[in-house]
Amino acid sequence: MYPKPIKEFIDNFSKLPGIGPRQAARLAFWILNGEKKVRDNLKKALEGLEHDIDICSVCFFTMEHSRHGEDKCHFCDNPARDHKMICVTEKETDLATIEKSGNYKGLYHVLGGLFSALDTAIPKNLKMPELINRIESKKNGGKKIEEVILALSSTHEGDLTAHYLERLLKPLKVKITRLGRGLPYGADVEFADAKTLSGALDGRKETK
Ligand SMILES: [Zn+2]
Repeated sequence: MYPKPIKEFIDNFSKLPGIGPRQAARLAFWILNGEKKVRDNLKKALEGLEHDIDICSVCFFTMEHSRHGEDKCHFCDNPARDHKMICVTEKETDLATIEKSGNYKGLYHVLGGLFSALDTAIPKNLKMPELINRIESKKNGGKKIEEVILALSSTHEGDLTAHYLERLLKPLKVKITRLGRGLPYGADVEFADAKTLSGALDGRKETK
């Protein structure tokens, strides 16, 4: 029904999380009928994702591409943060929600996903070996990690991942906590409000 370029736009955009084909079609016509400046800015923003972003070598959060070769993000590189605590999140947007709650001043670790409820295999792409390395080694600016907070969503996938991590981290003699009450079952960390998350951080419980 639509000309090929519009169809291609819809095919690509409907692969994005939360966007279906109808919304993608609406976007296509909104962009097409809008100002050229909007299209230019969108192109620039996409290019920026491709070329101007680096990944922190320690916590795997994103950072602006450094022309001076820095490989640590502004959390890992900040001496004012508490370098004895690591908060483990599934994804970057969860980290952003926790940071916005204003109740956490430690470091982070972006796992890059969760275990699947359908597939029993251990996902290979999760940054779990890197987390262990961080706790074991002195890559942490010489400071010992004392607590790891598992800030994973309160879902079946989040539980599976947390239980696996608890077993993995136990021999490292580090305190392991999970977000406490307030985060209802099934809740995604990303969409929790600041107050709830702040309470869940305060009420975090040590895992047995
Ligand atoms: Zn970092």
